[in-house]
Amino acid sequence: MATLLAKNAEVLVTMDGARRELKGAGIFAVDGIIKTVGSDKDLPATADTVLDLSGQIVLPGFINTHHHLNQTLTRNLPAGQNCNLFSWLKAHYRIWARVGPEASRASTLVGLAELALSGCTTVFDHSYLFQNGNSVDVQIEAARDLGVRFHASRGSMSLGESQGGLPPDDCVEDEGFILRDSARVIRTYHDSSVGSMTQIVLAPCSPFSVTTSLLKDSAALARQHKIRLHTHLCETLDEERYTLAQMKLRPVEWMETLGWLGDDVWFAHAIHVNDEEIKKFAGTGCGVAHCPCSNMRLASGIAPVRKYLAAGVNVGLGVDGSASNDASNLLLEARQAMLLARLQLGLDGGDKWMTAREALELATLGGARVLGRSDIGSLEPGKCADFFSLDLHTIGYAGALHDPVAAVLFCAPQPAVNTVINGKLVVREAEIVTMDMGPVVETHNRCARKLAEKV
Ligand SMILES: [Zn+2]
Repeated sequence: MATLLAKNAEVLVTMDGARRELKGAGIFAVDGIIKTVGSDKDLPATADTVLDLSGQIVLPGFINTHHHLNQTLTRNLPAGQNCNLFSWLKAHYRIWARVGPEASRASTLVGLAELALSGCTTVFDHSYLFQNGNSVDVQIEAARDLGVRFHASRGSMSLGESQGGLPPDDCVEDEGFILRDSARVIRTYHDSSVGSMTQIVLAPCSPFSVTTSLLKDSAALARQHKIRLHTHLCETLDEERYTLAQMKLRPVEWMETLGWLGDDVWFAHAIHVNDEEIKKFAGTGCGVAHCPCSNMRLASGIAPVRKYLAAGVNVGLGVDGSASNDASNLLLEARQAMLLARLQLGLDGGDKWMTAREALELATLGGARVLGRSDIGSLEPGKCADFFSLDLHTIGYAGALHDPVAAVLFCAPQPAVNTVINGKLVVREAEIVTMDMGPVVETHNRCARKLAEKV
């Protein structure tokens, strides 16, 4: 039995049903599950691990609902700096296809570590390029070694250029192999129990890179194993033009004909939707991964987050791949979500401001709902001991402590002092403690240089 006591927090944001924000409070956890959340006087005197959080604010661990961790290898690539989605993808496909196991492990570790340093404790990664020996297995092992709660995807691309798709033919896989490998990965790794550290998602890449039959077969396989489905949808108007031309349907209509609307599905971006489609998402339980930084960088558009929330659609946040962000910082993403919703208010009219607390809810409870988990997203007895703390007495928050909770998003993002996942410290004193990251960064940079050299 491993016990953890985190005490003396200046403020503790629970995100529980009453949205309590406690002062002078802490958490006691046993074997990764929270037993007590409350005032310091209600907590045990000691534990195997004791954290003194004096002067710090504690929040539930953030949940990242869309990423491509391998893309940290191609951050800021000159050929992809100033273009929108389709040209940006074409500039990257062949480089990503050369990512092998060593580069995949290094980039997975770098992305997950950066996320943990920004308070993120659960990560979904949308991997869909498995050439050159790369595999989901490498990523899952890396996440386990670092100690991050990980939802991996056995993603896919099967529709090459010669068949009318966007990716080059040498970047796509055989559909029979994709489905067999998907079944293998589900059987080997998927754990649906409370407190699960590893889950599998099936995630064909996008309407313009997979066939209709692969979308249908992936949905059938996912439902057979009761796992979730994910893809990019309604990211750009290019995509809408593509499905209108190829399928004579808007993207959401097309997905509906394939059985791809349901409470076991969530879509990345979902920017270009009409009011009817928002109602369909709400009615069927489809979730949305909102990725504001990537959407701004690629000039894709602004997702109607306010309308989604008003309609009752589940919305979480995603940093998206590090070739279109180019940060894996969820605190930054939550801030951007708050700011972008305000810009949209000015553009579209309306009077409902996105508050800091609402944006924090997207990053926590919202993400948990999107991933279909009721054991993470808030700090309550029976939930996973996933949380992080920030030092409120740094330069960055000076003068903003009238409302420390809102300061976390109104002020510039600060590094997490502690990040606890599954009751274990992954970040302490703003450093990763489960692994020596120095050599990982060196390997990562060597692999990134090699990939870029061949462009
Ligand atoms: Zn993406």
